[in-house]
Amino acid sequence: MEELIIKAVRKIIEARKAVALTGAGISAESGIPTFRDKGGLWDRYDPEEYATIQAFQENPAKVWTMLEEFMEMKKAKPNPGHFGLAELEKMGHLRAIITQNVDNLHQEAGNAEVIEFHGNFRRAICLKCGSRYKMSEISLEKLPPRCSCGNALKPDAVFFGEPITPLTLQRAQEISQNCDLMLVIGTSAVVYPAASMPEIAKQAGAKIIEINPEKTYLSDYISDYFIKGLSGKILPIIVDEIKRMAKEN
Ligand code: NAD
Repeated sequence: MEELIIKAVRKIIEARKAVALTGAGISAESGIPTFRDKGGLWDRYDPEEYATIQAFQENPAKVWTMLEEFMEMKKAKPNPGHFGLAELEKMGHLRAIITQNVDNLHQEAGNAEVIEFHGNFRRAICLKCGSRYKMSEISLEKLPPRCSCGNALKPDAVFFGEPITPLTLQRAQEISQNCDLMLVIGTSAVVYPAASMPEIAKQAGAKIIEINPEKTYLSDYISDYFIKGLSGKILPIIVDEIKRMAKEN
């Protein structure tokens, strides 16, 4: 394992245009449950019933009851995995993060270049008039919360059946196409089109370093290095190792 990390660290140091793709797993150690793991949200709520745009349009109040549980993430704080990525960016070893997460924790940890592929739960949007609100400014006492125009508000996040914002998709694809290394962290890589970013990067010649306690379909086919473990443990080791090597040189 140590040898594998050292090899990966060398690749990160050599890279000139490294980026990261993150998923729910990087926030698991902040206490936010992933969706697909045992005990996760999809174990308790059928996504067909609660996470599609059709379900929201038919019964926004019902969907907001599930969202309220998810809103518990407001209390979550970045963990050593998030801070590790922020440090990589500060050290000049990471250009950007494409995140599938909607929890704002990369920004809170200090990353400046964050592409919110699936939006951000810290905001709500009115699909009728386009107004946006900070989640902290709206009352959730009566569900669903409503816009000043009267329409039900929706978290400013992408539901199943909704398209990714075209500019966001374009930026993520460009970054993936142009990177020379992609860190793929805490994602099961089954939600498309986000899951296609490592494929785009790999096809363009980038190296792929995957960090996850479980293998994914990427691990044997796309990843050049699969580091088995929790991102909150592995990323600080990577950062320390980069610093150690920098001192040696
Ligand atoms: P996923 O739930 O499908 O997969 C999570 C992955 O993280 C798994 O492969 C799991 O093995 C791995 N994992 C678990 N703990 C980990 C840890 N400590 N360190 C590293 N990896 C760990 O998540 P996904 O691929 O991101 O897809 C789910 C979708 O749901 C995403 O599109 C995202 O928008 C949304 N989501 C977001 C959040 C959040 O914002 N925090 C939380 C849950 C789901």
